[in-house]
Amino acid sequence: MILLHRLSRIAAACLALLVSGAGSEAAAQTLRFSTVVIDAGHGGKDGGSVWNGLIEKKLCLDVAKRVEAGLKSRGLKTVMTRRTDTFVELEQRARLANRVPTSVFVSIHFNGSRTTLISGGEAYYRSSRGKILASAISRSIKSRVTGGSRGIFYADYKVLRATQMPAVLVECGYISNKREARRCADPVHRQKLADAIVSGLLAARGR
Ligand code: ZN
Repeated sequence: MILLHRLSRIAAACLALLVSGAGSEAAAQTLRFSTVVIDAGHGGKDGGSVWNGLIEKKLCLDVAKRVEAGLKSRGLKTVMTRRTDTFVELEQRARLANRVPTSVFVSIHFNGSRTTLISGGEAYYRSSRGKILASAISRSIKSRVTGGSRGIFYADYKVLRATQMPAVLVECGYISNKREARRCADPVHRQKLADAIVSGLLAARGR
């Protein structure tokens, strides 16, 4: 009897899992938001990765501003966590974002690795709703940007953990890779990256 009881509990749990699975499948189609909090990584005393004559913080801010312009031209509201070369604590970025209603959070970074052969964009998520953003942005980068995307990955990053809204961290490419660094130094390429991020966000919004 106890076994039967346990089995029925397991069955109920499986059913609940199936139902919630179906629910997240439906939610995967769209996210509702009117504002995008754009987080340019690093800044001020924190330069981020430095490779091949490039400093990450500058690239992040440049792409963030291009994303801001792109989203505004499509009628979305934006909030920037920084718009100058200043150091902003991760907690402060999240606190600022958490004050913005019906928003999503996009953190913009460039990558560096001692394995200098690695190249390509990456999108990181922590929540299932963040995964929707990551998938859409990764798909968009893959199809629109030279260098493509290495895919989406789960990560317990502070800005993903401390933000309450769907959040994604986009690594726009490896500046440790010579060829990719040359691309990232070109404003035309950075505009393509920004356009791809904007398209990905709009795709996640279902329009
Ligand atoms: Zn970074």
